Amino acid sequence: MVQKSLVSVCLPIPVPTAFTYRVPEESREGLVPGRRVRVPFGKRDVDGWCVGFPDRLEAIDERGRERDLKPISAVLDDGPLLDGAMLDLASWIADTYACSWGEALSACVPAGVRSGADSATVLFARLAVDPDAARVEAAGLAERFTKRSRVLAILLEHADGLALRDLVRAAQCSESPIRTLAKHGFVELAERQVAGDPFAGAKPEAPAGVSLTPQQEVALEAVTASVDARVHGAFLLHGVTGSGKTEIYLRAIQSVVAQGRQAIVLVPEISLTPQTVARFRGWFERVAVLHSALTDAERRRQWRAIRAGEADVVIGPRSAIFAPVAQLGLVVLDEEHETSFKQQSAPRYHAREVAIERARRSGAAVLLGTATPSLESWEAARRGRLRLLSLSERVGGGVLPRVELVDMVRERQETKANYLLSRRLVHVVRNSIKRREQAILFLNRRGFATSIYCTRCGTTLRCRRCSVAVTLHRSHGTVLCHPCGEERPVPRMCPGCSQPGMSRIGAGTERLEDACRAAFPGARLARMDSDAMHDRNAYEQVLGAFGRREVDILLGTQMIAKGLHFPNVTAVGVVSADASLLVPDFRASERTFQLVAQVAGRAGRSAAGGTVVVQTVQPGHTALRHAERHDFVGFAAEELAERARYRWPPATRLVRVVVTARDDRAAMERAREVADSLRLALPEGCADVLGPSRCPIERVRHRFRWHVVLRAVDEPVQRAAVLRLRRLSAKARGADITIDVDPVDLG
Ligand code: ADP
Ligand code: ZN
Repeated sequence: MVQKSLVSVCLPIPVPTAFTYRVPEESREGLVPGRRVRVPFGKRDVDGWCVGFPDRLEAIDERGRERDLKPISAVLDDGPLLDGAMLDLASWIADTYACSWGEALSACVPAGVRSGADSATVLFARLAVDPDAARVEAAGLAERFTKRSRVLAILLEHADGLALRDLVRAAQCSESPIRTLAKHGFVELAERQVAGDPFAGAKPEAPAGVSLTPQQEVALEAVTASVDARVHGAFLLHGVTGSGKTEIYLRAIQSVVAQGRQAIVLVPEISLTPQTVARFRGWFERVAVLHSALTDAERRRQWRAIRAGEADVVIGPRSAIFAPVAQLGLVVLDEEHETSFKQQSAPRYHAREVAIERARRSGAAVLLGTATPSLESWEAARRGRLRLLSLSERVGGGVLPRVELVDMVRERQETKANYLLSRRLVHVVRNSIKRREQAILFLNRRGFATSIYCTRCGTTLRCRRCSVAVTLHRSHGTVLCHPCGEERPVPRMCPGCSQPGMSRIGAGTERLEDACRAAFPGARLARMDSDAMHDRNAYEQVLGAFGRREVDILLGTQMIAKGLHFPNVTAVGVVSADASLLVPDFRASERTFQLVAQVAGRAGRSAAGGTVVVQTVQPGHTALRHAERHDFVGFAAEELAERARYRWPPATRLVRVVVTARDDRAAMERAREVADSLRLALPEGCADVLGPSRCPIERVRHRFRWHVVLRAVDEPVQRAAVLRLRRLSAKARGADITIDVDPVDLG
């Protein structure tokens, strides 16, 4: 019999220890690991997790005296929210991603489930004044009351109002600024029935009943063999866009459901569209969707239904990997290369790694699908940790579009002007519109830093040690390598052609819409960027209009590259591939290859075919040359060699430590301490430590940012470094330290 007079409690705070509390007699029944408890902590009550029952000796100190332990305040919920397997998985996450067990446990259960009230109504907020008045007020508040101003800005984008809890999350504030606005008559708060499933309206799309191609047969057979044997297997499904990957997901899930087990399908947030859901609903009756657009109450209902065994298939973005299915049979990760699978706040887990780990522990299969595998997964396949399955052709007669590179250095020399749109791109788009077809133009705004290139030969400046694009540091008149911090003067002469003519590459995206109006008079334009994405409706509306052919040319950021299916699109332009090639990140080439492959996937989905025009000052760049030929395998081979040469992943494993402080020097000094202690702790040859250096994004919310990047030769060394860093970060004063294991973003 377990003595339950004491309980170990983990709290969702970045302190890596469990705390011991007493359990009053009457609370002992029903208290099991995985159940939530409320405990006094400092001056407050905090909700934490019961993780076990320590020995009675815990209550005695070294001198044999009774320790002064506080009792827990309450036992929460009607039972445990997490089972033993999830407790263990959370512990693995804590060790792997340098967070506390409590933080990892809380990440496993959506906030809506943890936050009490299960009522059928929620408090909704909406504007109580007309939009113009709200805009004026928002502008007036912008200086001194940024939160209130932000709340109004968000409400302006949600004409129908927003659940109070969602508004709080979107505006990153407490309820208080919203309640103040209500008191002043700008916002109205009212109870409303909770919204239903936002995907309920989507008509299930019936299975087409196609017969699989031989390649599809082979791939499906491999996955179902693992499912049928109930033995863990990990697969990488590499198939070009439109090669029938989803067809394989659906059929593999069929085998899982036939066994009475469940499947989890992870998709990037952006591709969780009504169309995607409809396809799964057409095949399976009991599909649960976990989506960030759900209200807390709705998410809670879905979560409980899943736990009660009422769903066979769960679809959702990265956090759906924690869905409480009882018998996991298969996890599918669609678009596995997507960086949105990595969480950017604690716990900074990667859903791909968690999926593989959870599947391994449950004897389930895991299937990673993509047209452009991450180099991490590609390398894992080469080493046999993932089994590679390939689909090399489009199904149903579609052909991949022609990809053309336009040399913008030559273009500028020949036209003697600095146009955003090359003659070739204008020609291709015009032709499409003339044939009543449609065009998409991508403008990539990720290039937050300015790079330097030669207007004569197109040479761009890179770090000699890191092979990463250096960026201009205007105030110092220097160029800076962000990973290693090396700074040097801006060269007067081009290192490529020894001629003067080094110039900045700016994004210039604001001008694109104007340029389009001038080049395509009379064409109907629509623009979509991430600001519009605050509002899912606006996003759906623009896409809806484009789908109904009410728009000829769609301008947008990379986000519109994903998963959309518009058969009438025959012209696609990448306005500046350089914006993504010159991001100061070792993955810039990989991201650019993915971008071009993804946008190429948008064109030529029908018999009409299509053309993709990629504008660049570096037409000889490996990523672009291979993208031109749709040659991922060739690209991966060259890029892997490059990564090995410059010691970047997957040849190494990274840990990034970001130090921020209000004082620039304080941040820098703290970062130096981190770097020094890592250099001391890790034996020569096991790891190298880059930095400290300034982060590419130098300042966020008045805090200066410095980082240290550790490159470990392998995972054990990486783990050792993480262990070391966890002890160190606990001592931080004045400066905030975050540890990011396997970072996907070095900004
Ligand atoms: P992907 O997920 O790789 O983009 P999909 O699975 O969505 O590809 O397939 C693209 C289209 O081709 C879908 O409409 C699908 O129903 C159809 N399809 C899939 N497999 C076949 C096949 N073997 N024969 C004919 N059509 C197929
Ligand atoms: Zn460098």
